[in-house]
Amino acid sequence: MASEFWTDDPTRLLRVGRGFELRDVDPDATPGTDSDKQLGRDELERQAQVLRGLQEKLFAQSRLGARGRLLVVLQAMDAAGKGGIVNHVFSQTEPYGLALTAFKAPTEEERAHDFLWRVEPRVPGPGVIGVFDRSHYEDVLVQRVHGLAGPEEIERRYGAIIDFERRIADDGVRIVKIMLHVSPEEQAERLLSRLDDPEKRWKYNPGDVDERVHWPAYMEAFQTAIERTNAEHAPWFVVPANAKWYARVAVQRIVIAALQELGPEWPEPDFDVAAERARLEATADLRWPG
Ligand code: ATP
Ligand code: MG
Repeated sequence: MASEFWTDDPTRLLRVGRGFELRDVDPDATPGTDSDKQLGRDELERQAQVLRGLQEKLFAQSRLGARGRLLVVLQAMDAAGKGGIVNHVFSQTEPYGLALTAFKAPTEEERAHDFLWRVEPRVPGPGVIGVFDRSHYEDVLVQRVHGLAGPEEIERRYGAIIDFERRIADDGVRIVKIMLHVSPEEQAERLLSRLDDPEKRWKYNPGDVDERVHWPAYMEAFQTAIERTNAEHAPWFVVPANAKWYARVAVQRIVIAALQELGPEWPEPDFDVAAERARLEATADLRWPG
């Protein structure tokens, strides 16, 4: 790959393939680069322009009827850095072209419907980059780990997810699904530092410790969800996330590659440029009265 930062293409290295085993992924690794934190930050900054340029084209072409859009699904254990991805990768995009949804525990009304009921309306519209901070995958992760739905229902959901993603992909949604993968040791350190720092303490959630004890069950649920729903039109990427700088720059690369595959182009105007110029010139004398 022609880049000073990347020695190999991270989108290929991080993409889930046949025979994938989550246990083989080292959360400390930085596949595709030998760089460090400072170089990672520089790369993130440089590529932000590229991302923004692609996003603008995507948005512009939708104004003239193109259906293309991108959905980025972020899943992870607590404190793995989903928030940091949103803040560092997507913060420099155009707010009008970004639709961020954080999925929390379902409300009573949401629970009364099928699990995809609350997800469907959040699928980004044409021209928009949608980011799901947690997603319909919670319905086969936390719900499986805690038995909030029975085994048969969980089984049905894998199929329902595949059908749902197939349907929106056919309607122009490019889907990338990303698991940020931290180690339990790294999570403990991050939770401790939240507890110790008065300015971070608000991020500490005692419930995170209750989830943490189910780590092995979560990893099993992730493994199954990933292998059951990995598809050409909706691929999974597992991003080692112990090094925050790496996770950010790798996710940015995955997003840029997905946008490049969508291949947005500046739209042809649906008006006569010369005629519009003439009309504008005819108003050149216009002055505010008085
Ligand atoms: P942060 O802690 O960084 O603000 P978060 O995504 O952890 O982000 P929280 O409000 O702490 O946000 O947690 C949301 C909780 O909602 C998680 O524990 C998650 O498992 C739960 N949740 C989300 N979707 C579902 C679902 N479909 N079924 C059950 N629980 C869900
Ligand atoms: Mg939380």
